[in-house]
Amino acid sequence: MSKIIEPHRIEIPLGIMFHTVNCYLFPGKELTLVDCGLQSEGNWNILQTEIKKHGFDVKEIDQLIITHEHPDHIGLLHEILDASLCKVKAPEIIKRWFSDPDEMTELERTFTIKMLSSLGFPKDELAASLKFLQSSKPFKKIKDLARFEYFKEGDYLEIGHSKWEALNTPGHCPSQFVFLQAEQRRLISGDMLLPIAPMPIVVENPNDEGEPIQALKQLLASFERLRLYEIGTVYPGHGEIFSDANAMIDKQLTRMKMRKEECFEAIKSGMNTPYQVNRQMYPYQTMPPDFSGMHMVMGYIDLLRTEGRIIVQKDDKGQLFVGVK
Ligand SMILES: [Zn+2]
Repeated sequence: MSKIIEPHRIEIPLGIMFHTVNCYLFPGKELTLVDCGLQSEGNWNILQTEIKKHGFDVKEIDQLIITHEHPDHIGLLHEILDASLCKVKAPEIIKRWFSDPDEMTELERTFTIKMLSSLGFPKDELAASLKFLQSSKPFKKIKDLARFEYFKEGDYLEIGHSKWEALNTPGHCPSQFVFLQAEQRRLISGDMLLPIAPMPIVVENPNDEGEPIQALKQLLASFERLRLYEIGTVYPGHGEIFSDANAMIDKQLTRMKMRKEECFEAIKSGMNTPYQVNRQMYPYQTMPPDFSGMHMVMGYIDLLRTEGRIIVQKDDKGQLFVGVK
């Protein structure tokens, strides 16, 4: 068995929803950082200070590994590229987020607005959502793409004296990658498996233009895939490092099963659009900017439809309506 190197967990503050995001610093033949937090001047200072506390310097980073393209995981990429000579290893399927970030952001926004308007959002909330989505500035284009290397499903990456297998586990997003050290039963999980509630975000299906992915179904399939490895230690993208991945998966499945039944009850009681179901299930959420409940509702609707318990219909304006069978 290769030597087990424990990474240093570095927490970077976030504004909304989660409190912090994790970066992992792995000493080894190559000094490795996995993910790099949300961009801000304050966060850049925190990252540098934390790396120093562990006896290293940002300029010594040899490789920066990316789990997925969300802003809380790639935010300080430009700063790290400027401060070091590191190479960046990222999933091949997110290549365009680095070369054409403006275009990718615009495509995602357009789809999200189209999707939200099909769910029964009132006009004023739709306008507020659009304003919110347009207020987030896109990631800056990368100047030196020659420093990037891309990996795909089944490739191995050397992190802290061990080889880790890259697995594409969609659910949180289609491009979510995790890194598995099967022999040591360790997993760097990104946002695939967290010690807090999962967030299967509905985006455009990369294989079916204009259609949403069934994110929760993908998440459940990825849970089942990971379960087979009986993982002992998980390094998640948010929250503390935890042990026994399968116990965490079971806990989350139990909760989701309960919430799915609540979704069914809401529909049975007469809520007939995904938006109405969401207001009933997540009344405490302020939407926008917090769409997390909406994504869960869409996932539960997909599951209930597959189980044959509800019907989902689209009218000629593209509005979705739900009802019990
Ligand atoms: Zn995240």
